[in-house]
Amino acid sequence: MSADDGIYILETGISKKEYRVAHLQAIENIAYDKDAPDFEWCNQSGSINKNHDFRTCPSCRARQKKFHSDDPNVHIRNARDMWGNCQVFTTEADAMHKAMELYRECCICEYGIQTIAIERDF
Ligand SMILES: [Zn+2]
Repeated sequence: MSADDGIYILETGISKKEYRVAHLQAIENIAYDKDAPDFEWCNQSGSINKNHDFRTCPSCRARQKKFHSDDPNVHIRNARDMWGNCQVFTTEADAMHKAMELYRECCICEYGIQTIAIERDF
């Protein structure tokens, strides 16, 4: 059984760093771009068609763009929802202390403590 959870330290800020700590599941949601266009699911990926190239396939590219966005503006928008109510720390050490506290309370925590940095202000 997968718990798919972890303690995530979010580091944000361009001139002044801020840290937030949360116990989250499905962290990949941070890269979901709700504004990216919908797309047809590709039926050529995997072993079905050996000549299929996901880098040039329009379906695969659209899927990548929607679910695995590399745009920091998308990441920070999702992060504001995911860490929205969390206490703000100004040093990494304080954030790590809080993360250890949450980690000890947490019984499964598949991914342990991870840091995610976004070069945007929260
Ligand atoms: Zn494809």
